[in-house]
Amino acid sequence: MHSTLPQNSNINILPIKAFNDNYIWLLQEKLNGIIIDPGDAKPVIKTLIGKDIDLKAILITHKHYDHTGGVEELIKHYPDVQIFGPENIEFKFKYIIVKEDDVISISGTKVRFNVIETPGHTLDHIVYVDKENLFCGDTLFACGCGKLFEGTYSEMFKSLLKISSLNPNTKVYCAHEYTKENIQFALTIDPDNYQLNERYKKLKDVEITIPSLLKEELETNPFLRAKTSDEFKLIRKRKDEF
Ligand SMILES: [Zn+2]
Repeated sequence: MHSTLPQNSNINILPIKAFNDNYIWLLQEKLNGIIIDPGDAKPVIKTLIGKDIDLKAILITHKHYDHTGGVEELIKHYPDVQIFGPENIEFKFKYIIVKEDDVISISGTKVRFNVIETPGHTLDHIVYVDKENLFCGDTLFACGCGKLFEGTYSEMFKSLLKISSLNPNTKVYCAHEYTKENIQFALTIDPDNYQLNERYKKLKDVEITIPSLLKEELETNPFLRAKTSDEFKLIRKRKDEF
């Protein structure tokens, strides 16, 4: 699949912090901006104005409020903004529904993304991917994965398999800073994993640990290392009790 993914050159990707531990990602191409999962409009507007960026598009990964809560306020400030998201009747704003394998093009820019459906954390969850970057919301975290609020273990396991098959050099932009506690949990599953121990040492004093590389996730993330749906289920259950 990854040989056909769109390539976005000359883009800059920056985190905008929101709430306690959310990242709203800003993708910048010249003075055009694309925002992924704006749970809160305030820090987004402040950043866009500060950098003199015009908001062209909003990409939504799933329905949770900490990913969508800022959308309506952003529409008020940027009435021409294009919005993309998964099919969900709970969304009250006007937007373009996207599905598995859709390629989206952001008007007024050269930016394109492919859509992958990743049900599990929620049933509507999708991720956006190009040749080098993955915006995965709450499906995959650095050294962890999203809680299963709606999907089955087997659905989430399959969703993670789709991500595992991407190019290992893909940068993983998830939506929360949970890395350190995820690594601490992973060490209880896989204490002798050399790369995992190295990752712990490398990140223990780092404030912003995202993005990671998919390669690192394949080596150290217990949820991507699970070989079967049952093994995945066991690890996910242990994490819920951690
Ligand atoms: Zn969520």
